[in-house]
Amino acid sequence: MVKKKKKNKVPSKVWAKYKIEGSSLKRERCCPKCGQGYFLANMKDRYYCGKCRYLEMKPVEKK
Ligand SMILES: [Zn+2]
Repeated sequence: MVKKKKKNKVPSKVWAKYKIEGSSLKRERCCPKCGQGYFLANMKDRYYCGKCRYLEMKPVEKK
């Protein structure tokens, strides 16, 4: 019997930026101008970048 070496997979730290909301997995939004690593502040109805003051409106959910 040959023993296979188990590869230790280190969980990516990217997952720290994921949070579970309800039953779905949502990712924090990155600033399209500043790039990844600059996350947009999650406001009630918009996202805001504190670095370049980029604003992105959240899509309105239609019922
Ligand atoms: Zn920005």
